[in-house]
Amino acid sequence: MSDRIPNTPPLPTEVARRRTFAIISHPDAGKTTLTEKFLLYGGAIQMAGQVRAKGEARRTRSDFMKLEQERGISVSASAMSFPFRDWWFNLVDTPGHSDFSEDTYRTLTAVDAAVMVIDGAKGVESQTRKLFEVCRMRDLPILTFCNKMDREARDTFEIIDEIQQELQLDVCPASWPIGQGREFLGCYDMLNDRLELMDRADRNKRAESVKMQGLDDPRMAEHIPADQLEKLREEVAMARELLPTFDARALLDGNLSLIWFGSAINSFGVQELMAGIGAFGPPPEVAPAEPRAVGAWEKPVTGFVFKVQANMDPKHRDRVAFLRLCSGHFERGMKLQHVRTGKPMAVANPMLFLAQDREIAEDAWAGDIIGIPNHGQLRIGDALTEGETLRFTGIPSFAPELLQAVRAGDPMKAKHLEKALTQFAEEGASKLFKPAVGSGWIVGVVGPLQFDVLASRIEQEYSLPVRFEPTQFTSARWVSGPRDKVEEFARANRGHMAEDHDGDPVFMTRLQWDIDRVGRDWPDLRLTATKETM
Ligand code: GDP
Repeated sequence: MSDRIPNTPPLPTEVARRRTFAIISHPDAGKTTLTEKFLLYGGAIQMAGQVRAKGEARRTRSDFMKLEQERGISVSASAMSFPFRDWWFNLVDTPGHSDFSEDTYRTLTAVDAAVMVIDGAKGVESQTRKLFEVCRMRDLPILTFCNKMDREARDTFEIIDEIQQELQLDVCPASWPIGQGREFLGCYDMLNDRLELMDRADRNKRAESVKMQGLDDPRMAEHIPADQLEKLREEVAMARELLPTFDARALLDGNLSLIWFGSAINSFGVQELMAGIGAFGPPPEVAPAEPRAVGAWEKPVTGFVFKVQANMDPKHRDRVAFLRLCSGHFERGMKLQHVRTGKPMAVANPMLFLAQDREIAEDAWAGDIIGIPNHGQLRIGDALTEGETLRFTGIPSFAPELLQAVRAGDPMKAKHLEKALTQFAEEGASKLFKPAVGSGWIVGVVGPLQFDVLASRIEQEYSLPVRFEPTQFTSARWVSGPRDKVEEFARANRGHMAEDHDGDPVFMTRLQWDIDRVGRDWPDLRLTATKETM
């Protein structure tokens, strides 16, 4: 069991065995392959290859995935739950492309740890670095998997050194690779003194694992050629001398990472990593909230929405809000309080995302992710509780940095377009502004590719071809302050005003000078680049 935060009440057994994590990586490092193997060992699927197969089935259901395929990006995210040994894993998938960082960042608010996958030949790449920075802001514990050791990889010390230097993160080896590329035999498990040998003939077979009495155990020579054994002994001795020793506290604080070496495609090193997640990845603990933090040991059910996905099934126009449970034992049919609206909400058909398919969840515990089908009531950042008024904090909202006007190919379809745009705004995929003057809408996003994805989704899901066009505005700021002042300001600046999808006032301009001027001339007002999610 992991080293828990001192002086906190004991967790219910079911909560103590939860491990909720995400995988962060650069595209192509092997995240999908590793996920498949997790599910394989989690007993959730019989054969590897089904994540991809399932991905393809989803694609035919929802054609915007075509874009995902064409561009080699991943815009869909979901949660997968599966058991492994004594633990219950919740793997929350992060979309891979940097244009979808909003989604990714929010996803990382829902997990307790992250697995960082790097390619042994490439080391720390740009997307990994960005995602790592987000993990660091939250002090998330990081477990590292260095993949593709069956190919030519960099020198082991060099890889570790690069992570330490680039990410300012101490790295302690959990395993040590024996050879690499064609010579790769397996790893020496430094935590448990075991020799793990890779079976190249069968990619899905469990590696052979032999208990050793340390590296000098004479039986080592039965498995490893003399020259490789000598090198291994030297390297491990050096690693033990030069690299940081394991410190559970430092790992939990996000200051030290354990690293395993392996080959996801050969299923090698994966179970050791999973056991590491179980042993060192923390169970759910404390979720930051106002006016008080929530402990995972508490009995009343609480949770927050970190993602909303619409049109998972285009025939039904359903929306699924992904709720991270922060405390309590949730049971199907429970009535919870929707804090933002103050209304009760019966959660009749919660979904648990088991690897095979969505299933109705009969119950769930703190740490679990459940999907709640709804008609738009649930928004990102919303809290559900058993009555307490809580606001979970730290769910980021991003400033829309790019603004474009959007027009329907068919002007008669304006209402239809509004519906589509509102829905994507509520999903958190974009911001929507309705200018006070004239007709039409302006959409705000963080990365340029989001416009293409939106256009594609509107066409696929609403059969509505649309065009995005430049507008005269480049910045949007939410206006807040005393009501009469806000109204006075809006009247004086009508040509610059818009409402967002909640009807809140937004000031649009192309000049930073304008924004500075408002600051000077309207001291009672506040202009903000993001709107705090409630
Ligand atoms: P993702 O983009 O991070 O999800 O990466 P994928 O899991 O799709 O893997 C990218 C490519 O690397 C695919 O062609 C995989 O078959 C390959 N791959 C994944 N793991 C390994 C590995 O351990 N060894 C080798 N040689 N190839 C791998």
